[in-house]
Amino acid sequence: MARVRRRISVLGSTGSIGVNTLDVIAQHPDRFEVYALAANSSVDAMLAQCIAFAPRYAVMMDEAAATLLRQRLPVDSDTEVKHGESSLAAVVTAPEVDMVMAAIVGAAGLPSTLAAALAGKTLLLANKESLVMGGHLLMQAVRQSGARLLPIDSEHNAIFQCLPADDQETPVHKGVSKVLLTASGGPFRGWSYAQMTQATPDQACAHPNWSMGRKISVDSATMMNKGLEFIEACWIFKLKPERVEIVVHPQSIIHSMVQYLDGSVLAQMGNPDMRTAIAYGLGWPERLASGVGPLDLVATSRLDFEAPDESRFPCLRLARESVAVGGTAMAVCNAANEVAVAAFLDKKICFTDIAVMIERTLERMNIVEVTTLAVVEEADAEARECTLGVLADLQRLTNASKRV
Ligand code: NAD
Ligand code: MG
Repeated sequence: MARVRRRISVLGSTGSIGVNTLDVIAQHPDRFEVYALAANSSVDAMLAQCIAFAPRYAVMMDEAAATLLRQRLPVDSDTEVKHGESSLAAVVTAPEVDMVMAAIVGAAGLPSTLAAALAGKTLLLANKESLVMGGHLLMQAVRQSGARLLPIDSEHNAIFQCLPADDQETPVHKGVSKVLLTASGGPFRGWSYAQMTQATPDQACAHPNWSMGRKISVDSATMMNKGLEFIEACWIFKLKPERVEIVVHPQSIIHSMVQYLDGSVLAQMGNPDMRTAIAYGLGWPERLASGVGPLDLVATSRLDFEAPDESRFPCLRLARESVAVGGTAMAVCNAANEVAVAAFLDKKICFTDIAVMIERTLERMNIVEVTTLAVVEEADAEARECTLGVLADLQRLTNASKRV
C-alpha cells in the first residue's frame, strides 16, 4: 500500500536550516510533500527550490521579490507566489499542512511559529528566538492545541532523544536531575577579551565545527547562542534554570546530555551536521536516513570538556540574568542581541560591544509580565529602539575619542 505523504511548509527555506531540511526531504520523496516554501527576499534560491520541489505556494516576505519570482517561474509551474505576513500565516495554518519547519531567523519568526503551535501542527522548531521571546505563550499554545513540538536545535534535539520516551513533559518526575547543554565555545574559545575587541565579522562567522547563517554564527562566537539555548531548554523541558548546566565541549560530537539521579548520563553523539536533528524531527517517531556519515570515534580520538568562562563571554551571564528576571526580560535580551549583532556585522561596533549594548538595554528597559503576543511585540520594538540609542551613544564616544 502506498504511504500517505506528510505535507510540510518550510519557513526560511533559503537559509542554512531550510536548505538542509530540503536536502533530507529530497532523500525521501515517498514520505514528504512540500506544501509551501517561505523566505525573505532571495529570489534565485527560491526559484531553484520551486523548480525542484514544486510547492503549492511560495511566500516571499518582500513584495518586489515575490513579483520577480512570479515573472521568473516557468509558465507551466503549479506554484502560486504570495507575499507578506498574512500569506505566511495562511501556509502555516492551512488544514492540508501536517508539519511546519520554523527556520526563519530571529524575532521575525515569532508570529508564524506561534501560529503553527496554535493550529496544532507538528512544529519542527529551529527558530529559537521565538521561544526565547514568547516561551510562555508558545508552550501554552502547544499544550492547548495538542501540537507536537520537536526541537531541531541540535542540543535540544539531543536532550529530547536522551529523555524517557514516555514522558518528556515532566522529566524531573522521571529521575532526571540535570540537563547538560554542550557548547563548542565558538571560534574565540581560546581568545583573550582584549583579542576579542579586535575580532572581525568574518572571523566571528568562521565557526570551527558548524556551517550556519551569519546571525547564529556571531551568536556562537559571543556564546549568546548558548545563552538563548539555555532559555530554550528551560521552556521546552519545563526545567528550573539550576537544572540546566552549560559544558564547553570543543569537538561538538556530544550534542548534549541528560543526567539521571542514579548517576547515569545519557549522551547523544554524531557528526556536527544539522541534517541528523532535522531527519529526527521529520521522521519522528521513526528514524530516517539523513545523508550524514557515520561517526568515526577512532578518528575523533578525544572528547574534551571545560567550564564556560562568563568573564570573557558575558552574554552567558546576561541570558541567565534574563531568565531569573523573567517576563519580557528574555524578549528584551533577544531584541538587543539582534540589533547589536547586526551593528557588528555592519562594522559599526566592535565585537565586545555586543554584550555591552545588551547589558545597557536590559538596565534601561522596564520589564513586565508576558500575557499576550502584543506585550512581547511591544517589548521587542521598544528594546530595539533602546539598543539603537545605546549604539548612538557608543558611536558618539568612539568618534570623540578619535578626535582627541
Ligand atoms: P539563515 O540566515 O541561514 O536563514 C534565514 C532564513 O530566514 C532565510 O531563508 C531567510 O530568507 C528567512 N527570513 C529572514 N527574515 C525573514 C522574514 N522576515 N520572513 C520570512 N523569512 C525570513 O539562518 P539559519 O542559520 O538557517 O537559522 C535559522 C534559524 O534556525 C535561527 O533561528 C537559528 O537560530 C536556528 N538554528 C540554526 C542552526 C544552524 O545550524 N544554522 C542550528 C540551530 C538553530
Ligand atoms: Mg544549537
